[in-house]
Amino acid sequence: MNETQPLLSLEHVRVGYPRLDGRGWLPIVEDLSLSLARGDIACLLGPSGCGKSTILRAICGFEALQEGEIKLSGKIVSSSRIQVAPNLRRVGMVFQDFALFPHLNVLGNVIFGLRSLPVHTQREVGLAWLERVSLADKADAYPHELSGGQQQRVALARAMAPEPDLILLDEPFSSLDIDLRERLAAEMRDILKSNGVTALLVTHDQFEAFALADHIGVMSQGRMVQWDTPYDLYHEPSSRYVADFIGRGVFVPGTIQEGATVEIELGRLQLDNDHHDPVGTVVDVLLRADDIQHDDTSPLLATVLRKTFRGADFLYTLRLDSGLELVAYVPSHHDHAVGEKIGIRLGVDHVVTFPK
Ligand code: ADP
Ligand code: MG
Repeated sequence: MNETQPLLSLEHVRVGYPRLDGRGWLPIVEDLSLSLARGDIACLLGPSGCGKSTILRAICGFEALQEGEIKLSGKIVSSSRIQVAPNLRRVGMVFQDFALFPHLNVLGNVIFGLRSLPVHTQREVGLAWLERVSLADKADAYPHELSGGQQQRVALARAMAPEPDLILLDEPFSSLDIDLRERLAAEMRDILKSNGVTALLVTHDQFEAFALADHIGVMSQGRMVQWDTPYDLYHEPSSRYVADFIGRGVFVPGTIQEGATVEIELGRLQLDNDHHDPVGTVVDVLLRADDIQHDDTSPLLATVLRKTFRGADFLYTLRLDSGLELVAYVPSHHDHAVGEKIGIRLGVDHVVTFPK
């Protein structure tokens, strides 16, 4: 096996559904390319309806391609002419609702894909996977006796037990309580990484994507608009769409000045060395909620318009006297009332601008 070869690659993939009126195809996924190295965890992140589940079904072999190719370990498994059967792809899938078999106990669910092995081996392998997902004591329980998080780990163990080359996860946390998600996402990442599993997850939730993935592809209407590490997506969004979709923030007008700086209403910001807009160019500057800091001693005042309690901090929506609105994360022991004026200052690390 060639170690430098991607485990999964999609090249200019196009998938559509037949139109209801029978006239041609409704394009769903357009010109999608990506590649995943062995052991990587990647995520496709985009709003509901943008084609995420369709892409996973195409990789599994349940959906035909109109154009392009899908390769697993260098071998074409899907193209406009080829469609290798799902059971021959060595791809495991964890569905959005886990889809456990209610009439089988936990061990029965986990060994479901191992029927070609001798019975005692099935049991050994199944118990070993339950051990790895910390559910060894639940082998005889039935799905309805488990919590949502436990059911999810059973679904994961079931998908991993046949040792597929690739695991696909469709919104794996969407049916779980919000306060559980972050912990379970970290837990799932540990399980995948410690077993060297290559995984592609899809979600509309950026926090899940950040908690799990090494690489994230942001999707819009069936197209990938940026493929990057979570850090670079946040700090260097390549378009207004990505900047809007990831994190909380606002765009404020600015003008490029001498010395690679940009003048905005709140002051002057230093740009990166690689910024090339000529002096005088009017741009929009991204100010994220973590770029605005609350400071009681600052002469710059803003009125609290709204606030959302988030536990460790508040998300304040603020308005300057000029009418400009900002958002800011403020530690939650600074509990100011709506209508109150509070001091703020800029703490922008890395300035992101877009053409006006
Ligand atoms: P996501 O998972 O990102 O929410 P999907 O891949 O499920 O998006 O769906 C993308 C689009 O394709 C949606 O507009 C959906 O209504 C449409 N769609 C999904 N499945 C079918 C189908 N079998 N036939 C026709 N349209 C479909
Ligand atoms: Mg979906």
